[in-house]
Amino acid sequence: MSRPVLVWFRDDYRVSDNPALTAALASGSPVLCFAIVDEVSPGLRPLGGAARWWLHGSLESLDQSLRALDSSLALFRGGSEELVERIAKETGAQSIFWNRRYGEAEIAIDSALKKLLANRGLEVRSFNGRLLNEPWEVMNKAGKPFQVFTPYFRAVMARGAPEAPLPAPSRLEAGSWPEPLRGLQVPLKSLALEPSRPNWAEGFSAIWERSETGAQKSLAAFLDNVLQGYAESRERPGVEGTSRLSPHLRFGEISPRQIWHAVMSASAAIGGITGDTEKFLSELVWREFCYVHLHQTPDLATRPHDPRFARFEWSKNEANLTAWQRGLTGYPIVDAGMRQLWRTGWMHNRVRMIVASFLVKHLLTGWRKGEAWFWDTLVDADPANNPFGWQWVAGCGLDAAPFYRIFNPITQGEKFDPNGDYVRAFVPELSRLPNAFIHKPWDAPSETLQAAGVELGKTYPKPIVNHAAARERALHAFQEIRQPG
Ligand SMILES: Cc1cc2nc3c(=O)[nH]c(=O)nc-3n(C[C@H](O)[C@H](O)[C@H](O)COP(=O)(O)OP(=O)(O)OC[C@H]3O[C@@H](n4cnc5c(N)ncnc54)[C@H](O)[C@@H]3O)c2cc1C
Repeated sequence: MSRPVLVWFRDDYRVSDNPALTAALASGSPVLCFAIVDEVSPGLRPLGGAARWWLHGSLESLDQSLRALDSSLALFRGGSEELVERIAKETGAQSIFWNRRYGEAEIAIDSALKKLLANRGLEVRSFNGRLLNEPWEVMNKAGKPFQVFTPYFRAVMARGAPEAPLPAPSRLEAGSWPEPLRGLQVPLKSLALEPSRPNWAEGFSAIWERSETGAQKSLAAFLDNVLQGYAESRERPGVEGTSRLSPHLRFGEISPRQIWHAVMSASAAIGGITGDTEKFLSELVWREFCYVHLHQTPDLATRPHDPRFARFEWSKNEANLTAWQRGLTGYPIVDAGMRQLWRTGWMHNRVRMIVASFLVKHLLTGWRKGEAWFWDTLVDADPANNPFGWQWVAGCGLDAAPFYRIFNPITQGEKFDPNGDYVRAFVPELSRLPNAFIHKPWDAPSETLQAAGVELGKTYPKPIVNHAAARERALHAFQEIRQPG
């Protein structure tokens, strides 16, 4: 029997359009597939609770997909470098293949392993399985990374379609694991990735299907029901107006190439590329832009891109932070968003911007606190998109919203959730308020409040800050940042 080829899965939990897996299959040798849950290597950011919940499902479903191909996924726990070195040695593998990652610590691990294993005579190959373009592939005229999104997007579009996605294998010639490594494998359940006491993720399973099949279903539903009209519907948190593909992309249950090509075919079938198609592709490209900047600035989650923000004195008011986290700020659109996040592990993009702006500007709480909360509670918590999104809203990020853009939670609610459907879904204690007051219950006459069963300060909080005063305070505070340091 020929020496096996190893495939190391990391945030690419799918069998279709998986370049590392396809290359292993093409080698004609037996294939051994594995994943590592690494909670010990220095520099790796520990996953938050909601992402751990998702990872459990991804690993479980990938194992099932591989079993359907006569293979399986071996699971290990521990330090990646040590484990991969041991796996390579004890299997006598001739090659190891993986798809690339872009965080600093991940790159350091992969580079060290590449060197070590290549020195031992193994063929080590890595592939792009996560992005339309590698972070170093699309540069400006000066050969530098783009600092502004729009020209970056134009440059990406000018490159034309990404390569066509690879088909899923129909069968794998599975290798067999040597006995000592069998003993080292761990059952998925033993990793306790899913919460138990309390099981706060109980409701998640009814909403999400954590698998490659789930990703394909979400894509199909998006193409059938949402793509036409996306440019408008994406701004409406109260309707199913976006793809909800983000957690599937985060864990690589689907690739952006697959999405790109499916969207292009669907658009061709309805007569060509529309503004909706372009808007959607631009969102996919925002994700790429975030990865370019993660690659450029590995400490994206901890250091403001604009250094003037480093000396800003953020508020230490813990009560305000807790009220925000629990969806008890007294601003209905903010509270609906924070409760959607807690209840479903996801939040609509428009509302992410509103709640982030509220935390950073109305409450003057540091963006890193918000980033950390999202990191822990989002099923799509992403090492590039999340810190990038927070820095963007705070005004310290690349191509960011200007500091004086302070989202007004009342008018934003009225504009994007005009009938209050979103607020009613997540803040049921306000559900009987008429539309005119759903985003500003404090303005409702007392008899209206009474008829709706609302007692401010009792059944629903009074606003924890006054909007106009908080806005002035923020403008003043951020004005000081503008002074040269
Ligand atoms: C403060 C803040 C934090 C965020 N944190 C995350 C995060 O941790 N993980 C994450 O995937 N997205 C994050 N986003 C971006 C965006 O909110 C989500 O990607 C989007 O809401 C996911 O829903 P969807 O899949 O239905 O999006 P769709 O509208 O269907 O878009 C399709 C895909 O494009 C990408 N995309 C869309 N909008 C953005 C954007 N603004 N920035 C980068 N990529 C985008 C996503 O991969 C998304 O799945 C954040 C945005 C903000 C403002």
